[in-house]
Amino acid sequence: MDYSQLKSDIDQWAQEIGFSQVGVSDIDLTEAGEHLNRWLAKGFHADMDYMHKHGEKRYHPEQLVSGTVRIISARLNYMDTDVKPYQQALKETQKAAVSRYALGRDYHKLMRNKLKKLAQRIENEVGELGYRVFSDSAPVMEKAIAEKAGLGWIGKHSNVINPKAGSYFFLGEIYTDIPLPTDEAHDFHCGSCTACIPACPTGAIVAPFQIDAGRCISYLTIENQGAIPEHLRSAIGNRIYGCDDCQMVCPWNKFTQKSQESDFSPRQQLDDIELLELFAWTEDEFLKKTEGSPIRRIGYASWQRNLAVALGNAVTEPAIVEALTNKRDSVSDMVKEHIEWALKQHAQ
Ligand code: SF4
Repeated sequence: MDYSQLKSDIDQWAQEIGFSQVGVSDIDLTEAGEHLNRWLAKGFHADMDYMHKHGEKRYHPEQLVSGTVRIISARLNYMDTDVKPYQQALKETQKAAVSRYALGRDYHKLMRNKLKKLAQRIENEVGELGYRVFSDSAPVMEKAIAEKAGLGWIGKHSNVINPKAGSYFFLGEIYTDIPLPTDEAHDFHCGSCTACIPACPTGAIVAPFQIDAGRCISYLTIENQGAIPEHLRSAIGNRIYGCDDCQMVCPWNKFTQKSQESDFSPRQQLDDIELLELFAWTEDEFLKKTEGSPIRRIGYASWQRNLAVALGNAVTEPAIVEALTNKRDSVSDMVKEHIEWALKQHAQ
């Protein structure tokens, strides 16, 4: 088997399938594992106990999928550059600011389908192939793998940056048993820039490459199922699902490329919608309107909690106070406490 030829064929097939770029890494993730263990030891994973659970499997790919010798790392641009800019969304406090990756269809299934297509295409060529595909779905160190596979470097905000495409892309992996030639790990190009660190509204980037999840708005509004700490609520502003501030200020994102996937275009006008309209959704409406969207995963209570915080931070208007007051007694205790906090902001 001519593995060099196979590798360039894989590049070609990946493009045909719609990936923005693929690369190949070996499975030595020792350095990334050490970084992870230091981060865990500092307690920066907040309530994400699952970060501990799989132990060494995260940085020993052969323990997760036996026989793995290489990882094909793929990236897919997701930014719809025609939508209302995130900077603008942050300024309009009566409207919602949603992380750009979550405006359209949930990427997990889409990425996995594309990865499976690529693996099957390889299988057609080489015969039986040992493989498993992942996209944010298992203990896989996606960012470290992407960096090793030459797709970009991990910036000081901990996202992967590609010099020709910025950082607005999804990652996925194929763990495989074919000994493909590997790519060179990407060089680090943040240089002396530190723009993302002070840009974080809640100070979650405590040092370069060190994110305290317990302060990170993405964690607080998505993974976190409980209350949002009161001292961080004002800084959240109108960010109701995730946060892009560290990416927004990154100079490399002037190279952002428009996504070729129409599925990532906004649904329900989420790039330009009033907080009050979203807060009025019943649970049934929430489930229906977020079908196929990553937002559905957080559930209705977290959705209402996030909106209550954003409404508390909006400029005072009688309609906001009325909507908060009307909901106060029909929600869970957790949401009620956030609504009461929001009402207090308007009473000051
Ligand atoms: S803003 Fe600057 S320091 Fe932060 S990731 Fe981008 S280049 Fe690196």
